[in-house]
Amino acid sequence: MSLAMPKPEEEILANRTRLIERLREILPDDNVIDDDAALKAYECDALTMYRQLPLVVALPETVPQVSEIMALAADMNVKIVPRGAGTSLSGGSLPLGDGILLGMGKFNRVLEVDFPNRCARVQPGVTNLAITHAVQHKGFYYAPDPSSQIACSIGGNVGENAGGVHCLKYGLTTNNILGLEIVLMGGEIIHLGGKHLDSELYDLMGLMTGSEGLLGVITEVTVRILQKPQTARGVLVGFPSVAAGAECVAAVIGAGIIPGGMEMMDNLALVATDDFQPCGYPRDAESLLVVELDGTQSEVDHLIERVSEIAKDVGATTIKVSQSEEERLQFWAGRKNAFPAVGAIGPDYLCMDGTIPRGQLAHVLTEMQEMGKRHGLRVANVFHAGDGNLHPLILYDANKPGDIEKAEAFGADILKLCVAVGGVLTGEHGVGVEKRDLMPEMFSEADLEQQQRVKCAFDPNHRLNPGKVFPTLHRCAELGKMHVHRGKLPFPDIPRF
Ligand SMILES: Cc1cc2nc3c(=O)[nH]c(=O)nc-3n(C[C@H](O)[C@H](O)[C@H](O)COP(=O)(O)OP(=O)(O)OC[C@H]3O[C@@H](n4cnc5c(N)ncnc54)[C@H](O)[C@@H]3O)c2cc1C
Repeated sequence: MSLAMPKPEEEILANRTRLIERLREILPDDNVIDDDAALKAYECDALTMYRQLPLVVALPETVPQVSEIMALAADMNVKIVPRGAGTSLSGGSLPLGDGILLGMGKFNRVLEVDFPNRCARVQPGVTNLAITHAVQHKGFYYAPDPSSQIACSIGGNVGENAGGVHCLKYGLTTNNILGLEIVLMGGEIIHLGGKHLDSELYDLMGLMTGSEGLLGVITEVTVRILQKPQTARGVLVGFPSVAAGAECVAAVIGAGIIPGGMEMMDNLALVATDDFQPCGYPRDAESLLVVELDGTQSEVDHLIERVSEIAKDVGATTIKVSQSEEERLQFWAGRKNAFPAVGAIGPDYLCMDGTIPRGQLAHVLTEMQEMGKRHGLRVANVFHAGDGNLHPLILYDANKPGDIEKAEAFGADILKLCVAVGGVLTGEHGVGVEKRDLMPEMFSEADLEQQQRVKCAFDPNHRLNPGKVFPTLHRCAELGKMHVHRGKLPFPDIPRF
């Protein structure tokens, strides 16, 4: 009988088998996926240039199951990647070969709609659009509207602090959630916020929103719902240059007007969009603004007049105001299909997501065209102009040797420029694996270490979604141990009045 230590591969295999057995003690058999063909469906998110088969996929249906899986992962020292609908554009839900992919898709119920408190309690796998569908019969809606809203989940929206066309006026996900239920790494279940407007102590909900699955697993979200504005009308404004369009954005906001939405497209994007989904865009314009003005009828009429005047002053060549609800929706149908439309004109595209001060739009967009020439790749722009949130779509061909590297280098140059002009690396898509190595462009070593101390407070062994967001991982012990006081701390005297 040999007493030799098992080979590492045998050990890994034995651990995997044991892990799957223990997952099957927690979940029904069908909710544990371990064969390669079925795992393939989970190998990437919407950042498809990165792919990795997960060790195993677990699909819990209840909060106690999530809690047990988290405790199991801690017990067996296994990593966990939470996943909603897998539409992340930054690789946030990219699986790990040595980790459980925790799919939250079965948490798909709207638990409660509470009109008097203007909120809804939903499970994290509910799609963004399904929330609006659940409340629209009473004239309400959920405001943040990512273009992926038909597919992406509210849990993923919280994970990435997702935005959308209407976030300029109504705020991002962080401004539209009231409460969260979260399962921590050891299996503990915590509740933050509720149906009320504000919470005491630290803003942990703010911390969780945009935490990219690094701090805990969200199992319930209480969202704020808003009453639909009485009227909304769309305006298409075409310009002879990108600079004139950018100038109009700054002038409208500078005049004190906050449109319901203000999106911009350059000529490459708008023509591709109009080909893909005919929507009446002015095809000869070098840049196009799709503006929505909402409110009462008289307010909207007044705002349309003011925006039109400002647009003419900066040289608009076409101004088209929607004459019916169908036409307004047609204007937006184009914008919402812009990504697939650009996808149709090139084999592949890489979608970037930097945010800059609005006043820098013209400079950055012009510089980007020059960069495109240097890198030998085309770039189409379609983005949340009012927020200064850029989405350059870099066209490349994954089958052409060297093209992926060129696209990544071009994307990195764009994001470095965003930071150089006073902006940030991401507006709404998150850091994930995509922008991880660019973090030092924006944060000092001390900044990054302080952020990792927050991670350490929730997940000291880096089991939750490691490899995302932080370019280097420090052992939590290296970042300075917290002084643990056992027993009661001396209680300071409180002065009496
Ligand atoms: C065509 C297209 C258009 C898009 N348009 C927009 C847009 O306009 N605005 C925008 O903001 N984004 C947009 N996105 C990006 C994407 O849809 C969003 O980032 C969305 O919020 C991701 O949701 P998801 O359910 O797919 O999450 P996933 O991709 O599954 O996960 C995203 C992140 O959240 C974490 N996560 C997911 N669920 C949980 C949970 N229950 N608990 C803890 N962490 C969790 C994951 O670990 C990961 O880090 C677009 C994507 C595509 C493909």
